[in-house]
Amino acid sequence: MKKHNFSAGPCILPSEVFQQSAEAVLNFQGMNLSILEISHRSAEFVAVMEEARALALSLLGLQDKGYKALFLQGGASTQFLMAAYNLLERKAGYLNTGTWSTKAIKEAKLFGEVVEIASSKDQNFNYIPKNYEIPKGLDYVHCTSNNTIFGTQIKQFPATDAPLVCDMSSDIFSRDLDFSAFDLIYAGAQKNMGPAGATLVVVKEAILGKVSRAIPSMLDYTVHLTKDSMFNTPPVFSVYVSLLTLKWLQDKGGIKAQEKVNTEKAALIYNEIDRNPLFTGFVENKEDRSTMNATFNLTDTSLQTRFNTLWKEAGINGLNGHRSVGGYRASMYNALPKESVEVLVDVMQQLEKQA
Ligand SMILES: *Cc1c(COP(=O)(O)O)cnc(C)c1O
Repeated sequence: MKKHNFSAGPCILPSEVFQQSAEAVLNFQGMNLSILEISHRSAEFVAVMEEARALALSLLGLQDKGYKALFLQGGASTQFLMAAYNLLERKAGYLNTGTWSTKAIKEAKLFGEVVEIASSKDQNFNYIPKNYEIPKGLDYVHCTSNNTIFGTQIKQFPATDAPLVCDMSSDIFSRDLDFSAFDLIYAGAQKNMGPAGATLVVVKEAILGKVSRAIPSMLDYTVHLTKDSMFNTPPVFSVYVSLLTLKWLQDKGGIKAQEKVNTEKAALIYNEIDRNPLFTGFVENKEDRSTMNATFNLTDTSLQTRFNTLWKEAGINGLNGHRSVGGYRASMYNALPKESVEVLVDVMQQLEKQA
């Protein structure tokens, strides 16, 4: 039986996508060749890349608005430095909402001055800062839409005239936003879009070409754009499986339809965390809670062994919290069925009955 997979990333993908990917490994589009052995310059793969780039833009509502999509390598972690390399001339503003933001800040400091506009480090990142002032004259403002480790999510994005850069690794394609408010969006594929290996970058072309430094080709957005995301060998399998996942999302009605399901799943788990006296949520402000990653703990840690046994017996995988938070984390990305959350809630209720 398939496990209920709450893994934070790499994570669950739709079962149809696993099936189609397996078929493509054996015989891609009737070519009698594997997707893994054909040239990335073949007409078949070029079509995959072009469709994936176009579909990513259209799902985000960004087609014909001056944006381009790229599938690059190096993970979101490379985007921490690549964004700064391409955009930071003098001074940038960063919102520090967790481990990933902290890492992005560290990289940006190699290229220029970084202002921490606001931070929630004082409370181990269990909330989203609000009512902060954004200084004028910044090259860009950077934020992290969903804090995968701590389970917080930005609902109100920074209001700024500067270009807005966002690490959306763990909630892209999960909720309906006005994506045109952002100038650069990046996301490692392995949280909500596909297998590890590809990184989606969506960039508004007008913000590029403004820094005076020389940029190495592989780190230059313009070089990748000029070459239609084929400057070098792209991560072909990850791009292909990402395309299958994006098509799955489109068939299900796109981001709006998916957001509805994600809201229902999140309501199930948070209602139980709030109701069940044996559990406590890590994020206190309800409006800051992530619909993707719900972090919680036992109120009585002596129940840990019993709870761990119960959820493992129920076929649940990947529920342990990140080491910097402890406790539990239920990651509920797009492909996680609502039924899996119902199984988890049932296990939480079983524990209550036994205790
Ligand atoms: C996982 C994650 C990253 C790191 O992604 P890599 O692809 O491993 O470099 C960055 N930001 C966020 C928000 C993440 O969840």
